[in-house]
Amino acid sequence: MAETTRKAVAAPSPLAPEWLSVPEDLNELLPALWAHDAARTAGGELALGGLTATEIKAQFGSPVFVLSEADFRARARAFKTAFDAAFADICGGVDVYYAGKSFLCTAIARWVREEGLRLDTASGGELAVAERAGTPGELIGLHGNNKSDAEIRRALDLGAGRIIVDSLDELDRVAAIAAARGTDTPGEDPGMESPRAKVMLRLTPGVHAHTHEFIATAHEDQKFGLSMAPGTASAAFADEEPGSAPSMAEEAVAAAAGHDSIELLGVHCHIGSQIFEPEGFEAAAVRLLEFVAAMRALYGVALPELDLGGGYGIAYVPGDTPRPPAEIATALAGVVRETCARLRISAPRISIEPGRAIVGSTTFTLYEVGTIKDVVVDVPAPGQGGQATGETSVRRYISVDGGMSDNARPVLYDADYSVILANRTSQAPAQLVRVVGKHCESGDIVVRDAYLPGDVRAGDLLAVPGTGAYCWALSSNYNYLARPGVLAVRDGAARWIVRGETEDDLLSRDMGV
Ligand SMILES: *Cc1c(COP(=O)(O)O)cnc(C)c1O
Repeated sequence: MAETTRKAVAAPSPLAPEWLSVPEDLNELLPALWAHDAARTAGGELALGGLTATEIKAQFGSPVFVLSEADFRARARAFKTAFDAAFADICGGVDVYYAGKSFLCTAIARWVREEGLRLDTASGGELAVAERAGTPGELIGLHGNNKSDAEIRRALDLGAGRIIVDSLDELDRVAAIAAARGTDTPGEDPGMESPRAKVMLRLTPGVHAHTHEFIATAHEDQKFGLSMAPGTASAAFADEEPGSAPSMAEEAVAAAAGHDSIELLGVHCHIGSQIFEPEGFEAAAVRLLEFVAAMRALYGVALPELDLGGGYGIAYVPGDTPRPPAEIATALAGVVRETCARLRISAPRISIEPGRAIVGSTTFTLYEVGTIKDVVVDVPAPGQGGQATGETSVRRYISVDGGMSDNARPVLYDADYSVILANRTSQAPAQLVRVVGKHCESGDIVVRDAYLPGDVRAGDLLAVPGTGAYCWALSSNYNYLARPGVLAVRDGAARWIVRGETEDDLLSRDMGV
């Protein structure tokens, strides 16, 4: 054992990135990367709830997304429980909205509700899934920077708990659509007042977080939200407030308060994604609470709810160290408590919108290995210069039966993943590999850099963990590949929650067939 370990560690590749070290045991499943019920069987296979990789491959084919239902429910519950506990004495608990855009189907919508969470949607299609799943309207939120009238109407018809308004234009449209509904809905008593649209305003606090740090600026150069920076209101609004430099956010509050057809619930922010440290969330919370206090003082407008968005990070590769929900909740609760005391306001009802941190680690993608190619590569000099050192090294390209069509994140975001050999263990020495897909695109990378046993061969199965969020959701039919299904495993039994596509599906919209 010690012998093989030494052999494996002795082979760091000069092509490996700095953060990637040779694992002591290539067969180990790092708990941070996997669903809690993923494990190696006595025979050395990866198994989820006891169901092995070869059984999954034999019964369901590959590539396939394999999701642990128990792990999904546990992570959903963990957020709800941790935030409820931390905020119990501040605002009686927290409303947790699962961000459906990370991965949504009717099964997920039902589990979310059963675990006591609500559901965020960002389009008419996501609303349709929520509706088919029977999610009660009051538990649904609708996001989007360019909602259509039809999407707004659909949310109102469902009795949506909140529409998160992203612009001044949209505020007026929501108000007009809500006002007209009472009179233009057939079968409704024209004398009856239509229910008001429940609205939150999405603000851009100028806090934007990256994985390891956050930046705080006055002006954010992006499409979402209403700016909180002074002087960003329209000229017409600024003229009403001579001598002041009101913000677009302030203008929206005043406008919302002036619409009879709108019930203004509060304000919202979402500062980024895959964030590990709580400081960015804390800074945003302070800015929004200060805004709440200012709106009360300036206009006498109450903003009883405050949403702090999602964006909590997960582990994709060994060095990633996300915080557990309880730690984030405690840090945020402390800041909300102190800030409300300092501003002498009662705390608003808090809500959050995690997506990735609930579903991301519940799922792995199972692929079959096809072609393997050793490519001789110039070893670049250290640093950014990119000059060749004159040395060469081998990068092993392992092709699998999927690729950028089932995981676009490496291409879109330069995202890193990890990978293990799933159908067996191996004591072969570590080999630096790049796992690539089968698409006609050289950027078609699934795992940019990882170590795998040197004897991985065609027909082996590889598993990539952490593919629950923004993988199936972003999947495509590039090269007419059928999109993989999502298999939910529970108590050792698997069932499709979304089936994989067939060749007939691929041709179903082709009008020439
Ligand atoms: C994407 C998004 C989320 C969820 O982000 P995660 O990184 O998946 O937690 C929450 N709220 C809003 C408004 C979003 O756009």
